[in-house]
Amino acid sequence: MEIACPQCKSKKIVEGRVYNQPDYIAPRAYFRPNGLKFFAILGVNVRMENRFFSCLECGFVWAKIDPQQLRRVLTESGTLQLKKRLQLTE
Ligand SMILES: [Zn+2]
Repeated sequence: MEIACPQCKSKKIVEGRVYNQPDYIAPRAYFRPNGLKFFAILGVNVRMENRFFSCLECGFVWAKIDPQQLRRVLTESGTLQLKKRLQLTE
């Protein structure tokens, strides 16, 4: 599978990891979407692998998470407005 930049469609892509200090790989991170209900605390993070991609043409950086987990977080904890926009039903 050839990867292309989601923003500019260039195929000049490089894979890498995120460091939060020059010589310190970031510990495993979590993605928490915006638009959750105010008191949502538990089960609102989606685990991320430290595997990112960047585009040599436009500088876009991206990663991938489990979309099923993301949908679960949003279905369980998203605001009604957000769920309506994303067409998520419980
Ligand atoms: Zn690009």
